[in-house]
Amino acid sequence: MSSAVNQAGPLTDDLRSLYQDIILDHGKSPRNLRIVEHHTCKAQGNNPMCGDRVTVTARVSPAGQLEDVAFEGKGCAISIASASMMSEALAGQSAATAKQLFEAVHDLCTGKIEAEQVKGKVPAALSDSVDKLAALSGVRQFPVRVKCATLPWHALMSCLDGKTQATTEK
Ligand code: ZN
Repeated sequence: MSSAVNQAGPLTDDLRSLYQDIILDHGKSPRNLRIVEHHTCKAQGNNPMCGDRVTVTARVSPAGQLEDVAFEGKGCAISIASASMMSEALAGQSAATAKQLFEAVHDLCTGKIEAEQVKGKVPAALSDSVDKLAALSGVRQFPVRVKCATLPWHALMSCLDGKTQATTEK
């Protein structure tokens, strides 16, 4: 019996082109490309390796729910697509869930886990979002691209932590 989860195997051509379609769709027509009205936090992410710059704004309720998430900025298709998918996935979720998804997406992008395992780490309501975010797993062979994909997430984490700057360079 072979597992549906192929840890280290190459992407099939079908999957690769599906992933490219998702990245191109969100890269060309990003969702939530704006500033959140009455945002409670704002942080800029900067990826000097590629030139990506994104500013994430969010409105967090007193109960810790992300009522709205959006971003502005310029960058490569991967960074913009990642920001777009992130903003879609996390609107209405708790800040705690955002942190869980950030860690899972980071592990997905670096090749530590697969999309099916991501689903095990976040609420079931995010399954459809995870199917889209799986497109980001195509970056795992390219360390520079991993930074593109995770940049908006780093910015959101800084935002939620009350910081104003995030960088992929430590
Ligand atoms: Zn980039």
